[in-house]
Amino acid sequence: MIVRFFVHLLIICMLTVFTQIGGVLYLISILIFRDLPRRLLTFMVLYLMSVLIIVPQLAPIFGREPIKVNDDLVLRSIVYRMLNRNYVTEEMNNTLLNISDEFAQKYPGMKVVCLDANFPFFTGFPLLPHRSHNDGRKVDIAFIYMQPDRSPTNKKVSVSGYGIFEGPAENEKSMPSKCRAAGYWQYGITRYATFGTWNKELLFNENYTRGLCKIILKQPALQKMFIEPHLKSRMKLSDAKVRFHGCAAVRHDDHIHIQI
Ligand SMILES: [Zn+2]
Repeated sequence: MIVRFFVHLLIICMLTVFTQIGGVLYLISILIFRDLPRRLLTFMVLYLMSVLIIVPQLAPIFGREPIKVNDDLVLRSIVYRMLNRNYVTEEMNNTLLNISDEFAQKYPGMKVVCLDANFPFFTGFPLLPHRSHNDGRKVDIAFIYMQPDRSPTNKKVSVSGYGIFEGPAENEKSMPSKCRAAGYWQYGITRYATFGTWNKELLFNENYTRGLCKIILKQPALQKMFIEPHLKSRMKLSDAKVRFHGCAAVRHDDHIHIQI
């Protein structure tokens, strides 16, 4: 009995951490039915209806809306949508649309690929493992890559979009080493968050990623961009809005973080 209670509690906590609403829906399902098949079926139906229909209708009450994807602005995977990790404020949506429009104009055929954004409800509710993605005003964007023949591509290496580091060269400043030496063991933890890799032959496209950063930095609403210091100097990004996120965060040489 007590074991069963803790198993349910663990499932509720995990679903809440990963999807925000899943824990509550699971609780409703186990309160209505006593047998496992009906509980599971109820949970799945409730969850799908919520993600696809109810949550997008309710999120505007909390000042959030799903990222408005189009030909030039996409999510890395449908999983981000299915876990409710694709919510932003209207202002952030407009900023993303401006960025992706301009990026596609400058580099025809290229897309802006969004990773984790925010949950739909409650300011202050964090989207773990990100510390600050809790108010609709933050979003992570994937780097741009190229084929071995140097032709640009929209493909990425990591399945999740995280965890493939464009690490510092020997002559570059290495915050990953410094943070690790200072005891921040979690700094490189996203290496375990790739959920697999494909297109391993792809190379970091410094030129196009720099172009994307420049377009992001032009946005009037932009407050800060986080990218690892060695990439900031390698790509010659001198703008004061490009900041170091601190050793207590995770390394940012696998994606760009922006906030407005
Ligand atoms: Zn971020």
